[in-house]
Amino acid sequence: MKYYSTNQQSPLVDFREATIQGQAPDKGLYFPESIPQVDKDLLENIVAIPDEEIASRVIKPYVGNSIPDEKLLSIVKETLSFPIPLVKITGSISSLELFHGPTLAFKDIGARFMSRCLGYFLASESKKVTVLVATSGDTGGAVANGFLDVEGVEVVILYPSGKVSPVQEKQLTTLGRNIKALEIEGSFDDCQQLVKQAFADQDLRNQVFLTSANSINVARWLPQQFYYFLAWKQWENKSNPPVIAVPSGNFGNICAGILANASGLPAAHFIAACNANDIVTEYLQTGQYQPRPAVPTLSNAMDVGNPSNFVRILEIFHHQFPKLKSHLSSYRISDAETIDAISNIYRQFNYTADPHGAVGFLALQRYLAEHPEQKGYFLETAHPVKFPAAVERATGKPVNMPASLQSLMKEKKKSLFMKPDYDHLRSILRS
Ligand SMILES: *Cc1c(COP(=O)(O)O)cnc(C)c1O
Repeated sequence: MKYYSTNQQSPLVDFREATIQGQAPDKGLYFPESIPQVDKDLLENIVAIPDEEIASRVIKPYVGNSIPDEKLLSIVKETLSFPIPLVKITGSISSLELFHGPTLAFKDIGARFMSRCLGYFLASESKKVTVLVATSGDTGGAVANGFLDVEGVEVVILYPSGKVSPVQEKQLTTLGRNIKALEIEGSFDDCQQLVKQAFADQDLRNQVFLTSANSINVARWLPQQFYYFLAWKQWENKSNPPVIAVPSGNFGNICAGILANASGLPAAHFIAACNANDIVTEYLQTGQYQPRPAVPTLSNAMDVGNPSNFVRILEIFHHQFPKLKSHLSSYRISDAETIDAISNIYRQFNYTADPHGAVGFLALQRYLAEHPEQKGYFLETAHPVKFPAAVERATGKPVNMPASLQSLMKEKKKSLFMKPDYDHLRSILRS
């Protein structure tokens, strides 16, 4: 499989090169030259096929010969070393729980897969790579955890001081070893700005090999297809495929689902569940794509004003607006509606949703109200304990902390507190 850049100005690369580079040199996103079709046997007999076999058969055409089959299977096994249950909430709505991994959010799956691929590619080279990321919360923890002790990789994470939740901060600052956390006295935008400056600094990049670990990277984006297939395996009524609602920020997650669907996975429809950052909701209504600065909300992992993966969705539909509209709907859910939804889901169905999952639930409920013959699931993208303030406000009850977190919360934070000063960041990256 070859990958081209969505900006069309960079040479084709294979999976290995796309993973190591992250973003294409022309600043476009890598996209597969063709969308492989999953074989009939996989779909017809999915219930009897082990999870890791499903996943490796889905990802194999994308990886090509970059990784030997046996190694790929072991990477996939390690990626999926925790359960991903589809849990019934109402008669027509289920929750695909993606929060049972080590950092309690769906980003664990992409980060674990990517870190192992990168580790494999670097093992045969003397090259050292620095993974540089800015995080508004969940990415940092997942990347830190995924890359811990991976040979040849140093990780530098920038996060805004006082603006991530206590659990999120512990997840990205307590590991140490090859993980360095920089606590920036500023906003997420300041962190992102510093990272962009580093990637644009050719002089620095001649000395240090930088790559990113956000969903722009194909090795983080593509494995997100796994759980859509694992949900299909668990879906009861195979003659009535699900409507799938995805709480969306940078649109990597939903785009992976749409890609899975384009390669044969049955799905009735996709719903991009958005908060006040409703650029895509608006686009689907008006046909105008107008990015604007993000506004803060309770579902803060979705506070994105210009979703980078949206271009990949356009690519899947060959930039044909009517085709896109027939597969994808979008709803905008406010903070007040989010709190109400968490509260109602708890009172009526005895289920605790996090703010992101609640946005997904409500968007799905709205769609199903107009399509009563259908059923669906939403992606529960994070454990409610990662967002305790909103959840406790809505349910009136403290969120139970999983045992793994109780010990994590006692560990000591190790971070370097600094002003958003590029020269300082540069000297850290060079050392
Ligand atoms: C990152 C994140 C999202 C948004 O996912 P995208 O792939 O960026 O659309 C949603 N919910 C949670 C909890 C997240 O961490």
